[in-house]
Amino acid sequence: MGSIGLAKDISANPQSQRRRVSIFGSTGSVGVSTLDLISAAPEKFQVEVLTAHQNVDLLAEQARKFSVRLAVIADESLRADLEQRLADTKIEVAAGRNALIEAAEIKVDWVMAAIVGAAGLAPTLAAIRTGAIIAVANKEALVCGGDLVLAELKKYGATLLPVDSEHNAIFQVLDFDQIDAVRRLVLTASGGPFLRLTYDEMTHVSKDQALAHPNWDMGAKISIDSATMMNKGLELIEAYHLFPLSADRIDILVHPQSVIHSMVEYQDGSVLAQMGAPDMRTPISYTLGWPERHTFDADRLDLARIGSLTFLEPDPQRFPALRLAREALKAGKSAPTTLNASNEIAVEGFLAGSIKFLDIISVVEESLNRASISELVSIEDIYENDRKAREIARSIMKSFG
Ligand code: NDP
Repeated sequence: MGSIGLAKDISANPQSQRRRVSIFGSTGSVGVSTLDLISAAPEKFQVEVLTAHQNVDLLAEQARKFSVRLAVIADESLRADLEQRLADTKIEVAAGRNALIEAAEIKVDWVMAAIVGAAGLAPTLAAIRTGAIIAVANKEALVCGGDLVLAELKKYGATLLPVDSEHNAIFQVLDFDQIDAVRRLVLTASGGPFLRLTYDEMTHVSKDQALAHPNWDMGAKISIDSATMMNKGLELIEAYHLFPLSADRIDILVHPQSVIHSMVEYQDGSVLAQMGAPDMRTPISYTLGWPERHTFDADRLDLARIGSLTFLEPDPQRFPALRLAREALKAGKSAPTTLNASNEIAVEGFLAGSIKFLDIISVVEESLNRASISELVSIEDIYENDRKAREIARSIMKSFG
């Protein structure tokens, strides 16, 4: 069973001063939404660090706009490019994976972990060790390193706030002081763009179709994960780490309108849900101001216009990713890391046109079958298992290609 790891004490972060923030993955969908909220309230926030992988253009533009202290580009080969673009400023520039970790070691009040994939784990752990408030969007970091993340949170007294809309919803309605009164958590799922397709019809779907999520505008990787429903599988594991309930008390419910972002069912029959328009700025805003509500000009939820909210059980035949995620969680140890790494490789392969849509989950399943299961204690263990799982997934993909 996972533990909470969500501290409540923010005495180190007086609200009277501007909150110093760092954003890891600032050029992505979540990063851009975070900066959008910050730019509307410059009197409340001071941006210290921004990071990207390869998008030098946007990173340089953001760094200038927010007069940051440090801009980091993870792709080392782009260092000179970034330096040149910021040459007439006082902004410090750094590059490479280690630079990301060093940037995360800079003490700030609030960190947004919005790098996509397992690459976000090391900077997230480094940020945790500073004792800051960490808003985590990067679900893959929790999937592959959840136990370590929680142990470090406890050790360093840091605070973790869930950004994923489902987990943020649960965070808003879960009574942590009365966990025994909770019957189950219900994670809602939109079902993605292929909710109504038959399995056969999914055989030939294109990349563009898979990227076109009906409700949310997100980065490529999470969009594909939503189409296979692996996203919900990853979220199941994420929820297991974030909230103190066993996996068999975390259910998935398909809710195509994405209005109810998730629910907590109590033993007395009460079901508390958090609702809102599908806009990631709402959960981000909740973490940005926490423990106070940071407000912004959010769209109103017009239930009369929406008319009806519908629900259905997920279909395990058409969306086997959920079963694989549950099995990996049950197997424990290195299995979730293998699930995540092989999925990252398979999604990359699909986006590159090397495999078909339905092959994504087949690659993950076969990788889980082939990889041995071992105990992962340190970050080195996790990254070594991640590397091996990627190798296995690549070799399986070759046979599919
Ligand atoms: P994007 O692909 O839009 O952005 C990812 C960010 O991470 C970019 O800044 C990217 O830089 C950077 N990045 C990518 N690879 C690396 C790497 N190897 N090392 C360092 N930085 C890297 O992703 P999203 O914003 O959509 O998602 C971010 C995370 O948040 C994911 O884990 C996702 O599952 C989660 N999430 C996203 C939601 C959404 O609405 N988008 C909702 C809920 C959760 P560059 O731009 O240079 O490539």
